[in-house]
Amino acid sequence: MEILNELEKTVTRNALRFHVSHAIFCPACQTVMDVRRAVEVDFRKSDQLVHSAIRCAACYDRNQEYFNKVASERGLTVEITDGRVLYKAEPAAPRVRKPAAAEPVIGRRYVRAR
Ligand SMILES: [Zn+2]
Repeated sequence: MEILNELEKTVTRNALRFHVSHAIFCPACQTVMDVRRAVEVDFRKSDQLVHSAIRCAACYDRNQEYFNKVASERGLTVEITDGRVLYKAEPAAPRVRKPAAAEPVIGRRYVRAR
């Protein structure tokens, strides 16, 4: 199941990336789209995609109620793909520092035999 979840996450990420790359600019505010701050809004009627819209996160947050209102008026369900959630940074692994050398070693040292 873990593999299927990872696969679904990868497919969803790539689908959002595809839509963002086609939009380039946010249709509402004309800023350059970034997949980490993009939201795809899919309108579905009984599991069939009716309309798909893509917005930057700021525009989506501003118009979230409007999307829901339009969907409820037309009897559609809204499916959100939020890049902020998909690309949420996982906590980085702790870095292990190498113990510092007593003195810096540059290249090889050749010691003359006595
Ligand atoms: Zn926008």
